[in-house]
Amino acid sequence: TTHAPLADLTDDELTRFLQDRQAAYDRLRGEGLKLDLTRGKPAPEQLDLSDALLGLPTSTKDRAGTDVRNYGGLEGLPQLREIFAELLGTSPSQVIVGGNSSLSMMQTTIVNFLLHGGVDSPRRWVEEEKVRFICPVPGYDRHFSLVASFGIELVTVDMHADGPDMAAVEALVKDDPTIRGIWIVPTYSNPTGAVVSQEIAARLAAMPTAAPDFTIFWDNAYAFHHLTEDEAKSADILSLTAASGHPNRAIVFASTSKITYAGSGVAVLATSEANIAWYLKHLSMASIGPDKVNQLRHAEFFGSAQGVRDHMAKHREILAPKFAAVDAALTDELAGRGVAEWSHPTGGYFVNLDVLDGTASRVVQLAKEAGIALTPAGASFPHGQDPRDRNIRLAPSFPGLDEVRTAMAGVATCVALAAAEKVAADRDLRV
Ligand code: PMP
Repeated sequence: TTHAPLADLTDDELTRFLQDRQAAYDRLRGEGLKLDLTRGKPAPEQLDLSDALLGLPTSTKDRAGTDVRNYGGLEGLPQLREIFAELLGTSPSQVIVGGNSSLSMMQTTIVNFLLHGGVDSPRRWVEEEKVRFICPVPGYDRHFSLVASFGIELVTVDMHADGPDMAAVEALVKDDPTIRGIWIVPTYSNPTGAVVSQEIAARLAAMPTAAPDFTIFWDNAYAFHHLTEDEAKSADILSLTAASGHPNRAIVFASTSKITYAGSGVAVLATSEANIAWYLKHLSMASIGPDKVNQLRHAEFFGSAQGVRDHMAKHREILAPKFAAVDAALTDELAGRGVAEWSHPTGGYFVNLDVLDGTASRVVQLAKEAGIALTPAGASFPHGQDPRDRNIRLAPSFPGLDEVRTAMAGVATCVALAAAEKVAADRDLRV
């Protein structure tokens, strides 16, 4: 079904449409829903897929005979470094396996740049008058707040379907040494589902930067999280940076938070050997070794890199119908009306919904009053400020399929109502 564009309706038609949507919304409120599409958490059935972990490990020794119950092995279990090296297309010597959170590895990395300086830093970042980061938007809110919490300033560029607006990025880094880093979610980005193309990855790796320690924070959180058979292949940023003469420019992060248990997985950092040595040197001040028991049970659970890929197919079976339900609900109510555009991600955890400019906060408020919790409007922008007030991140993974259907039909009603209100107000219609 395709509807007529709202802008093409006569004043009478628009008035009727607005009244009709208002009535639909009143019915929705009457249903007393209590649904939540706010965060990209795995559903309980997805967590169940990994419950074999609770009976592992069967051994107390790793392949080299190291007792995993004891101290040591700061860089992570050899088996697991090998599995992730294969998955990320690098070598085990360039991989560290850590604790349960890649976000904390990112924070530790930033703190090390601030307080110690990086391998290529002329001085510690705290000694710089100003440090700024490029934030492709819409993007991941926690990336932005993490660096902002240290006083690092955020500079936005647009995120396109194939990566950040590279003309803008190249112009920023070329002459301005205060620009020290960029956040990139290269595969099935949060929230748009964009996949950074080979060409853009190569430009990021090769571009001249005024700061010698400019760093790409390549957060590949959704590298293996396909929703279709059309599986995106992540660009090999470590080889590209090395080949461009900037071996230390990229640091890759990933984790099993959305592979095994979100709260009890393992996180990974991959980068040049010089950066690995730098990271481990500082980490050795904080830890004598990681939770190798958890690492070993993950190594036993997966068995191999292929084991990870096979496991992800089971997640896809649970998730793909939820994403289809989001698309169906939005299409039903909004296709053709010219008041909303949304992404059709082939992987990851989110659908990016752009509504009529100036109506996103209204949609989120309407949904809230109808018992449907959405991520706050603007959450995908630095400091929560979406200059066009149009962006909403939808996270359909956690609720059950029926709940996703109900919630999304409600969201679509709210989008149509907010748009009709706005168009009517712009025409000075008194309704
Ligand atoms: N990076 C991105 C892009 C994410 O979306 C998330 C989780 N929502 C994380 C990192 C968090 O990863 P972890 O659980 O490994 O800290």
